[in-house]
Amino acid sequence: MASVNGEFRKLAAGYLFPEIKRRVNEWKALHPGVSVLSLGIGNTTEALSPAVVAAIKERAELLAHRETYTGYGDEQGEPTLREALSGYYKTLGVHLQPDEFFISDGAKADAANIQQLFDSHSVVAVQDPAYPVYVDSNVVAGRAGTYSQQEERYTNLVYLPCVEEKGFIPAVPARHVDLIYLCNPNNPTGAVATKSQLKDFVDYALEHKAVIIYDAAYSEYISDPNLPRSIYEISGAELCAIEINSFSKFSGFTGVRLGWTIVPKSLGCTDSAPGELHRMWFRRQSTFFNGASNLAQSGGLAALHGDGLAQSRSLVAYYKENARIIRQGLQAVGLTVHGGTDSPYVWTRVPKGMGSWEFFDLLLDQCHVVVTPGAGFGPSGEGYVRVSSYGHKEDVEAAMASIRRNLRKEDLE
Ligand SMILES: *Cc1c(COP(=O)(O)O)cnc(C)c1O
Repeated sequence: MASVNGEFRKLAAGYLFPEIKRRVNEWKALHPGVSVLSLGIGNTTEALSPAVVAAIKERAELLAHRETYTGYGDEQGEPTLREALSGYYKTLGVHLQPDEFFISDGAKADAANIQQLFDSHSVVAVQDPAYPVYVDSNVVAGRAGTYSQQEERYTNLVYLPCVEEKGFIPAVPARHVDLIYLCNPNNPTGAVATKSQLKDFVDYALEHKAVIIYDAAYSEYISDPNLPRSIYEISGAELCAIEINSFSKFSGFTGVRLGWTIVPKSLGCTDSAPGELHRMWFRRQSTFFNGASNLAQSGGLAALHGDGLAQSRSLVAYYKENARIIRQGLQAVGLTVHGGTDSPYVWTRVPKGMGSWEFFDLLLDQCHVVVTPGAGFGPSGEGYVRVSSYGHKEDVEAAMASIRRNLRKEDLE
């Protein structure tokens, strides 16, 4: 007799993106022939760079012949790719050994799975608003308690509010926690923590023997040289932090699939000496995962060198130019915007007295533009919408033109 894992039933209903899709489809059905411009999702739209494509083709050609064919590769990922990543971090002044990197098929699965390393009673802190996987993976693992409709939160999670007055960077937890998820540059707010703000978290983690799970998927969007791109730029972080990153937003690998996670050998926690967590993650990955695609790994290697790196960075620059156009377009109609300078997301305050779903509906209805309601990312996201720079530049420009033309002034007062 099989019974289900009841923790799944605790996942809050109405996951954000399906609900957006439902509303957009409903609107489209009522307005046949009207096209809708989407600035709603974090999915890349521009072509893979030529150096990456060439490397993937070359690797495919090797696989086409039995003399050069290869099957399963190294459990942690191809050594050449891990060496290249170690070299990439050296350019940030961060020294990590190639065997501290675990190549994955993307950051999202690692962000969901990493909690398996920790005790099922660990107290978990998340930023509010947050990228949903940090919350949902801990719900399914039984650490979140139950969802309170009234409070719009899980009873056992510690929420770190990210508010406008503090530049959307949270303060360290006011109580003891064991695990802290940080996403920097942040999805959805577009905020980026300074070194001193990150140091507060590292100091907290060292004092409480907590572990920080640091999602740096947008690190390449940081242009300000004073802002940290890796948590290991903060000394002591190698003792208390795991960093997760991805080629998705850096090189347009959302469909190709490739990421990495760093579990430093010096990382420890309350009941675990340095080295054990690293070995446990190796054990976990070699048992439950069979490695990232070799084609993707060849593409990733190309993205870290010479032309490939320059082309990846110009892809990032393309989306950041979109973000600039969005910021300018929204400010021109009198909206208050945050983020979008070292990040692809523009966090936009909704007009006074309106809810984030209400403003979502209004932009859809009047301007035919889709954004993401902030409330879908957590209670502190209410009052904001996330506007994504992922899209073709001409579509972003058309969306801004439509907002300028169609958003009624009286709606903004
Ligand atoms: C897009 C994104 C990722 C990337 O996930 P992949 O699985 O590597 O595509 C990770 N974290 C955040 C916060 C993201 O927005």
